[in-house]
Amino acid sequence: MSPLAIILRSLPSDRETVLQFDQTTGTTVRIRTLTKSAARMSSTEDQPPANRDAVSAAVRNRMDAELRACAARTSGGLYIVSTPIGNLSDITLRALAILATADIVYAEDTRHSAHLLQHFQINTHLKSSHDHNEEFRITEILDRLSRGQSIAMISDAGTPLISDPGYKIVRAVAAAGYDVVSVPGAAAMLTALTSSGLPTDTFLFAGFLPSKQVARQRRLTELKDIPATLVFYESPSRIAASCADMVAKLGRDRTAVVARELTKRFEEVLRGTLASLADDVATRTLKGEMVVVVSPAAQTPVTDDDIVAELEAALKDLSLKDAARAVSEKLNVSRSKVYELGLVLKKSSTS
Ligand code: SAM
Repeated sequence: MSPLAIILRSLPSDRETVLQFDQTTGTTVRIRTLTKSAARMSSTEDQPPANRDAVSAAVRNRMDAELRACAARTSGGLYIVSTPIGNLSDITLRALAILATADIVYAEDTRHSAHLLQHFQINTHLKSSHDHNEEFRITEILDRLSRGQSIAMISDAGTPLISDPGYKIVRAVAAAGYDVVSVPGAAAMLTALTSSGLPTDTFLFAGFLPSKQVARQRRLTELKDIPATLVFYESPSRIAASCADMVAKLGRDRTAVVARELTKRFEEVLRGTLASLADDVATRTLKGEMVVVVSPAAQTPVTDDDIVAELEAALKDLSLKDAARAVSEKLNVSRSKVYELGLVLKKSSTS
């Protein structure tokens, strides 16, 4: 039994002393002494503060066992390993086990990732793999896999391949018939989405907007009517220009969030309409990494007039049956309803 399993309480005068009995050594240790009022707030059910160490010890043992089990399970293959987006405590046990036991770790920037490995006292050899040497690395990685090696791939932060290089390597490794194992963890897009308070049932991750204004506005026009929460990555140098373009192309009143420095010391989530956020970011210098989340386009109901207008155009080239199918798909309304309106339209045009 764990030495931390039994907690005794004694109540001398106005104070309560919490004792812990260690069954292994047969000794009793005083954990803390509380005044009665403090003790009242700290029942056994409340998980008293001193017991946090006890929980930690049990959790530490469990973590150690999990780490060993993960390490033992690591075999040849390519592991896509997510790493933290700021707070190093967000690394997963599985990520640590794989990084520690892999034959090699490919990283976007080896100097940057060396800090991560050093922090966790992992000595696995690091090699660079980025946009410019990806093709060359594919040959090398396939060769290593043919020799049964386990290869970890990480990016500077978060989930590799998400606005980061790597998909060509994954495609080549999968095509060659080797295992590709994704080890999930932090991603700034999901961290921002879940703190945004915006609908999460359907969302569109749009990555970085183009840096040039004309292309950026064109892209925003494409995204304008999509009935999904939109998630963008953005840099501090472009946040003001991008928010201004969002106001112009997506609309002033859409609810939005700018989430910056997530999981880090200066984490901040700014909330408002696109117009108010654009004003905010235009007047203060926002530093650090950031994500912009925008509420879905409002759904305007499709009226019979909308359907008839589309039908009139479609019937110029198509039969009623084909026009009904095309219009129902375009407006996302039932085909039978469109067909019935088409019959009425045809009748009125022949009478
Ligand atoms: N692969 C990463 C991921 O899983 O999120 C994203 C890499 S992308 C090159 C870097 C961008 O992610 C940043 O410019 C910023 O938009 C976003 N980002 C990364 N870390 C962030 C953080 N801690 N807070 C807010 N945004 C972050």
